[in-house]
Amino acid sequence: MQDVERLKQRIPLLDYLRQRHWAARPAAGQQEFVGLCPLHQDTHPSFYVNARKNLFYCHGCGRGGDLIRFVELTERLSFRHSVTFLQRQLDPPDTSCALEQTAALYRLHLHRHPEAVQYLAQRGLCDPALIEELGIGYAPGGNLRSHLAARGYSLDLLLDMGLINQQGRDAFCRRVIFPCRHQNQIVNLYGRSIGAAFPHRLLPRSKGGLFAWELVSQFATVILVEGLFDLAVLWQAGFRNTTCAIGTHLTSSQWTQLSHPPGRSIYIVFDQDANQAGQQAARHLAQRLQSAEIMARIVQLPAGHDPNSYFLAGATTADFTHCLQQARPL
Ligand SMILES: [Zn+2]
Repeated sequence: MQDVERLKQRIPLLDYLRQRHWAARPAAGQQEFVGLCPLHQDTHPSFYVNARKNLFYCHGCGRGGDLIRFVELTERLSFRHSVTFLQRQLDPPDTSCALEQTAALYRLHLHRHPEAVQYLAQRGLCDPALIEELGIGYAPGGNLRSHLAARGYSLDLLLDMGLINQQGRDAFCRRVIFPCRHQNQIVNLYGRSIGAAFPHRLLPRSKGGLFAWELVSQFATVILVEGLFDLAVLWQAGFRNTTCAIGTHLTSSQWTQLSHPPGRSIYIVFDQDANQAGQQAARHLAQRLQSAEIMARIVQLPAGHDPNSYFLAGATTADFTHCLQQARPL
């Protein structure tokens, strides 16, 4: 708990918010600030920060607390993982090197395991240059622990990061791996099971920013998709202005990226699934973008499709362009 107090002193809540473009004006007291709430769709400033007490409270959604609570809510992490997330911002070198080493090892393994390359091909991803560019790897399982131990990483660190499980085996065993970067550093790994295991896995840490944002942010028009295989087939088809949030929910850093600076035009292409979850999330996001004065369009694919399955079913660049052209602003 002492560590937690020290952490909150080292990262003042107000600084943390301002780094994320929270615009505020002084409220009643000298130490009090008010602005739009980052936690709900706020139109009238109702989010208060007391810089002396290091606390926030929103009169709109009723949520309040300290920096850790704020990270729990915006990054959707547990208390413990929020603390780790913040510690990493102060002292990232060790974990980020471990992630680089892990991704490098898995990259080597991809070409030693035909079942992994075959899986990528099944998902429509066959351009070797693109596979290389995305840094895709494969975790055959069983050898990460000794590989990293030989390079001086402690078992505790690897367990804490979620790279290995209590039995010492690779947590990503039998998964193809996409490294997720933020400001050129690997911040997480996404693993897609090639077997019967639960399909999607991320390490228990923030998923970081939007995928490949350093490249994609240069475009005035951006396509946002749910999954990395959607992104991969779209890049392969020439739509290099595609980014991915890994899921339909944007973290606060992803939202900041997408909405700053304003003036971009966003095409949202989420899954056309039977339970409508993807479409509902798309509508919600489009409304939020629109209230931030960003042009948003929701792209409809044929029923049951996501971009990945659409291209696998034989769609061409021209077909997808046609879907984009059909999309109208809200
Ligand atoms: Zn609120």
